[in-house]
Amino acid sequence: MPEQIRPLSQPSATLRASDLIDTAMSSPAQPRTTSELPGSTASKLTLPEDFDGTPRVPSGLSPSSLNAYLACPTRWAYDKVVGLPTVTSLPAMVGTHVHRVLEGVMGREPARRTLDAALAIHQDELVRCEGFARGLAPNWEPVLPDEVDAVALSAALGGYADDGHTHRFVFDLLTLAPDMSELARRAETGVRAYFTMSKDPSAVEVVATEASISSTWTTPSGEVPVRGVIDRVDRHPDGSLICWDYKSGASPDPRFDDGAYRRQVLFYAAMSLDHYGELPSIGGLLYLGDQTVKLHRFSLDEVASFRAYVGTVWADIQERYGDGLDYGRAVGPLCSWCPHVALCAEGTAEVRRRAANGTGRGGVRADAPARELLGLPAA
Ligand code: SF4
Repeated sequence: MPEQIRPLSQPSATLRASDLIDTAMSSPAQPRTTSELPGSTASKLTLPEDFDGTPRVPSGLSPSSLNAYLACPTRWAYDKVVGLPTVTSLPAMVGTHVHRVLEGVMGREPARRTLDAALAIHQDELVRCEGFARGLAPNWEPVLPDEVDAVALSAALGGYADDGHTHRFVFDLLTLAPDMSELARRAETGVRAYFTMSKDPSAVEVVATEASISSTWTTPSGEVPVRGVIDRVDRHPDGSLICWDYKSGASPDPRFDDGAYRRQVLFYAAMSLDHYGELPSIGGLLYLGDQTVKLHRFSLDEVASFRAYVGTVWADIQERYGDGLDYGRAVGPLCSWCPHVALCAEGTAEVRRRAANGTGRGGVRADAPARELLGLPAA
């Protein structure tokens, strides 16, 4: 039986995924050439004065890494090539936790996929992870990411040390020391939203949860190592596969759609083709924040075209590394939220220009990290 989804726009109607297929976006992601990638105004990265590491291109691309590179190659390079630490955020931690809860409950046998079971996992996981963090930092003060003692963390986690979720979540607890009641409240809202959207989780034929897939794509631009985790793979009654991704936030405003979600589901489709030997019929994103579903129907031609496109991006990444860390900058409103803005002259200039407009449209929000990073006056 399929996932049954009730979108907000039709609150009284219960629609099956197959009903929504008719409205799924079907326009293919248009491949771009490397000349269209961000970076036409590229310049060399400015490294921190105390940086003593070795910049290194990551070993492959994931859906999130691809989208991060296309959003701003320089920010991506600071994260992935230089490896500068970034502090997490409460929304990111909520997302990690909700994913864990939904993985746990949807991985169970159908009769046990209930809201009560999900909320019990939610509480148990929070208590367990908070216990690990408080054991390492009894005073519960946030620390910088590069100050977390990796050896002590692994020792404290014991049998959970190889569990990516627990490791990440406890690490984030240590660096953010968030308000646990606020974290719990937001996460519970996300879990409840899933059960509102899914009429009958016990009717879903789950093939895999948190399906970790790695592969190598052969493209006209060369080989591309890829990896990623698909939140859930289902088997539709018509026999085809469906890939799902949970988003704990709200769906993006269509006016600002940069194609990121379409690239993400196409990435999943291409990886599923490698791993399962069949092309999924549908890729779906469940936005828990506003209980919205986005669906995309795949074709083999579209997936082949997408792989070729990813090949051009991967070639661009290698080329810019070979040119001496010569990455492009996508200067714009998101510079206000970039953790590396102080190292980026163009981004700094953009934020200062916007800050003169105040905190509203065209300005810099009062809670944007760039205000503190650049020493701008509090709004
Ligand atoms: S400040 Fe802006 S342009 Fe500079 S790295 Fe960050 S997002 Fe990119």
